[in-house]
Amino acid sequence: MHLKTLLKSVLSASSVALMAFSVLSAAQVRTADPEKRGLARSEFPRTIKITDNVYGYEDFHSAGMTTVTLFVVGADGVLIADGQGSPAATQKLLDAIAKVTPKPVNWYIVGSDHGDHTAGNAVLPKDITYIVSKASKAQMKLDAPAMTGDTQAINVGGIEVQAIYAGRAHTGGDLLVYLPKQKILFMSEVYLNRVFPAMRSAYPTEWVSVIDKALKMDVERFVPGHGFIEEAKVAREELVEYQRALRAVIAEVNRLHKLGLPADEAAKQANWGPYKDWFLAEQQGPIAVRKVYEEIEGKLK
Ligand SMILES: [Zn+2]
Repeated sequence: MHLKTLLKSVLSASSVALMAFSVLSAAQVRTADPEKRGLARSEFPRTIKITDNVYGYEDFHSAGMTTVTLFVVGADGVLIADGQGSPAATQKLLDAIAKVTPKPVNWYIVGSDHGDHTAGNAVLPKDITYIVSKASKAQMKLDAPAMTGDTQAINVGGIEVQAIYAGRAHTGGDLLVYLPKQKILFMSEVYLNRVFPAMRSAYPTEWVSVIDKALKMDVERFVPGHGFIEEAKVAREELVEYQRALRAVIAEVNRLHKLGLPADEAAKQANWGPYKDWFLAEQQGPIAVRKVYEEIEGKLK
């Protein structure tokens, strides 16, 4: 067949597939909004292989963005970092893990103690070992020993995983999950990819410092707790952008505070710049104003 004819027939036969492919391979829209990203709800939950034995799992949060779980499959079983927001959702996660490996789920690292990551934990195996910071243990009223230092290493059978407390950020008990050999860092809610800085229980300035520490680590792939799992290069760029968003929000609220505005009025006048288009900005903006006010006024202990 003439090359031109061949090309023509290939093109017409698979033009739909090619178009879909070009949407994906052209510059990926940077957003936490599945629809804007060109993804249908029916594509979730989904398991994403990050590297050998390390997987990300994205399912829908009631607010419309994704909630991410990381799981690591070692010779001795599976380690989960963060769960999902209901028993049904966490059961789906366990079902997805069972499709990857018959090994039991033995460890659970509490990256975030918030309900949208922990409210399904009742369906986890009863004898699971929790790795949890002191603050999150108290928050969850969890009947398991808290970490005694800032780092705890777990050998899941040939793969080393470290739970790292790098300071207070989104919850106050935030743990980062580091795979030193694979150079992967699951950041849970310390990194909310393209989601407006959610500060209901945050420590705004300390959060910025925790991201500084993460950026200095030997990491190739940063994985967020909400929003999409990105390729390595984009993930780093987006983490830097996330820190920029935090700084911008803190700076804007400081400006409004200096004007002497009460928090409600400041929330109305806030100019979030490019971050006003981030996911949940409308809902989270006023919450961030109140939290940064608390920090400025020394009410955040
Ligand atoms: Zn969350």
